[in-house]
Amino acid sequence: MIESDAMSIAKQAPEYIRAISPYIPGKPMTQLAREMGIPVDKIVKLASNENPLGMSPRARVAVEQAIAGIERYPDQFDLIKALADRTRLAQEQIVLGNGSNDVLDLAARVFLAPGRSAVMAQHAFAVYPLATVSTGAECIVVPAKHYGHDLDAMLAAIRSDTRLVWIANPNNPTGNFLPYSEIKAFLAKVPAAVAVVLDEAYTEYLAPADRVDTLSWIRDFPNLIVTRTFSKVYGLAGLRVGYAAASPAVADLMNRVRQPFNVNNLALAAAIAALDDHVFLAESYQLNRRGMEQLVTGIKRLGLEHIPSHGNFVTFKVSDGGAVNQKLLRQGVIVRPIGGYGLPNHLRVTIGLERENDCFLQALEQALNA
Ligand SMILES: *Cc1c(COP(=O)(O)O)cnc(C)c1O
Repeated sequence: MIESDAMSIAKQAPEYIRAISPYIPGKPMTQLAREMGIPVDKIVKLASNENPLGMSPRARVAVEQAIAGIERYPDQFDLIKALADRTRLAQEQIVLGNGSNDVLDLAARVFLAPGRSAVMAQHAFAVYPLATVSTGAECIVVPAKHYGHDLDAMLAAIRSDTRLVWIANPNNPTGNFLPYSEIKAFLAKVPAAVAVVLDEAYTEYLAPADRVDTLSWIRDFPNLIVTRTFSKVYGLAGLRVGYAAASPAVADLMNRVRQPFNVNNLALAAAIAALDDHVFLAESYQLNRRGMEQLVTGIKRLGLEHIPSHGNFVTFKVSDGGAVNQKLLRQGVIVRPIGGYGLPNHLRVTIGLERENDCFLQALEQALNA
């Protein structure tokens, strides 16, 4: 085939698809090992908000057992039932996803199309603009307030063609948290024809006093879609499983556009087991509390500013994000540069094990002084 043919078939994709810039994930440990000649087991990866304790041991057992049925197509019933029981919602209100990114995409595909728009905050999670523009809809990006969502400005930004608002609470990559009273007041003012996605990927890391049962709001706000994930506190990022809770009519539409077998057998089994692993969840929560304290203390001691975070990561400011990141990489430490989020002089570090946090802080000190 000649070059110009290849060019011309790519040109057949809609302009809004060709304009998408690729998502940049945290650098894999294996890639850094190849690039720097550092053994993989010497690398500290604190770049993707993964659980440093690994997966729930109960989930591991469940995965091993589920291998026996791998020749069969998956049946989502048991996980949907477990989640419905847990959340006190009807089974018809739960939509499973191949990671919660999948359900974010389903929400976009249900409500967005060319000629429509979605409202989101500056520095909000990268999947929102990606899911939005993939449908041909337009992004309305509202300037952040103290790095977080400015709900008043977001409300004012809603146009007659707006069909979706994206909110992450806590937000990634900034860690900001909006008190739930503000979100509820926002929902009361949003037009009923506009869906609101409330992404709660980090909700299990919130202090008990900050938590609210947002799922119970769906009855009053049928335009609310709450999303959660097994990738963070449950330690199952590599299996890909998350879910949305919504009103039955919205969940029905999301299920219609969903790939029938989007969550695999191993992920389903692991998620059911992880839901009940209260010991692992409590350990993960406590480790995160202690690690947050350790990292924030260390970052302040180095004279750096950070954004107060409610997740399992913290974002801090340096004079040159790209340069500091390179110096960390050379020492085998992977954090997340967030220039793509409009924060070129901030870096995001995931809370790791105590020794990983120490290793990062030492490398950061070295990087600042080099
Ligand atoms: C990590 C994260 C998710 C979870 O993505 P998965 O697809 O479930 O792994 C969703 N939203 C935000 C804001 C996140 O940071």
